[in-house]
Amino acid sequence: MISRREWLAGASGLLAARFAEPLLSRPAKAEGAEASLPALATAVPDFSPRHITARMVSLRPYRPEGFRVELETIADRSIVHNIGHGGAGITLSWGTARMAVDRLLALRQPGPVAVLGCGAVGLATAWLLHEAGRAVTIYASEVHPRVTSSVAGASFFPSLVVAGVSRTPEFEERLAAAVRTSHRRFLGLLGRGMGVVRRSHVVLAAERPGGGWVSRLLPELFPPPLEIRDPSLPFAAPWVGIEERLFIETQRYLPALMGAVRKAGMAIQRRTFRDATELGRLRERLIVNCTGMGSVGLFGHADLIPVQGQLTRLQTDSRLNYTLSAPGLYLHPRRDGLLLGGTQDVGVLKPRFDPAAEERILAGMQQLYRPAG
Ligand SMILES: Cc1cc2nc3c(=O)[nH]c(=O)nc-3n(C[C@H](O)[C@H](O)[C@H](O)COP(=O)(O)OP(=O)(O)OC[C@H]3O[C@@H](n4cnc5c(N)ncnc54)[C@H](O)[C@@H]3O)c2cc1C
Repeated sequence: MISRREWLAGASGLLAARFAEPLLSRPAKAEGAEASLPALATAVPDFSPRHITARMVSLRPYRPEGFRVELETIADRSIVHNIGHGGAGITLSWGTARMAVDRLLALRQPGPVAVLGCGAVGLATAWLLHEAGRAVTIYASEVHPRVTSSVAGASFFPSLVVAGVSRTPEFEERLAAAVRTSHRRFLGLLGRGMGVVRRSHVVLAAERPGGGWVSRLLPELFPPPLEIRDPSLPFAAPWVGIEERLFIETQRYLPALMGAVRKAGMAIQRRTFRDATELGRLRERLIVNCTGMGSVGLFGHADLIPVQGQLTRLQTDSRLNYTLSAPGLYLHPRRDGLLLGGTQDVGVLKPRFDPAAEERILAGMQQLYRPAG
């Protein structure tokens, strides 16, 4: 094992996330986690650039005040906004969809509903409206794989959802409710060919992590990692922990959900709205806005701040049976390859892949492991 000083001076120190939820901020105690955790693979992966198979980049729709689920009336249309999910739109999708649908149903207005947007948030919203017995059409300029939701890894964890100053008890309560609702839905999708999986998640750190606000808010869902001291493991970090997490493999989940939506009789129509006045041409008077960053151009929601994130995909290494995070770095093995990420670039208006960040990530990942052999 390397020392704490060496660790901090190395790549993971350079790559420490710039703001928001630190990946390592969990309290120290962990109970009852051991029984269900399988033995971790001891193989050392090869992060050479020659194994790169794909690069992806997109903008997270971050709203410092947290997600927004609110009714607005424009002319004769009732519009419920369901936006501002930041780095956790997959995690929150079913929860804020529930809130948006409840808000819409509370209007007690009959008739079909238009859902704008076909990312994870729009699809979950459409599904819940269908469950409530409404006729639904999804309108979207893009669908999987050309939406931000397709780029997400995606770990079930509420990261980058609200600025510290806006974390009021009221917002925390809504966030916790949304996460719990989503969690129940995703648990129900486990093992059903939807790309929802439960994995061992390795946490690497310079020292035992302190308590984070997410763990305090939702201790039953995000208990602290259990420290492990096993010399056969390949990690080079001074502190190694393990926990269980849900992962949503969006390359499987989104097509499966779109298939289910179509099979249930809902249409997905490709259509771009340039501004809110164009909504007047829709036959539906009830609308749910799930356009993510698109909401800036469409409704003038300038409080949405784009936070760019990028992923590098390497050839699959079937030996790896865990996901992993360290400060500013994460690794998600999926069927289609190893996803590497960890960037958060605030205020980038047009997504652009950063090769220098990729280089740092590849080097940083390699340094998380002891040299092979
Ligand atoms: C690198 C990266 C990693 C991430 N990791 C995670 C993670 O681990 N866990 C997690 O929970 N989240 C993660 N996220 C965040 C997550 O991807 C977003 O929060 C989520 O995708 C937002 O979903 P959405 O449905 O609101 O938006 P989108 O997926 O962007 O969908 C928006 C939809 O609206 C449509 N639209 C937009 N404007 C218009 C218009 N004018 N007219 C018609 N249609 C329009 C689009 O075409 C699209 O269909 C990550 C994001 C990135 C970039």
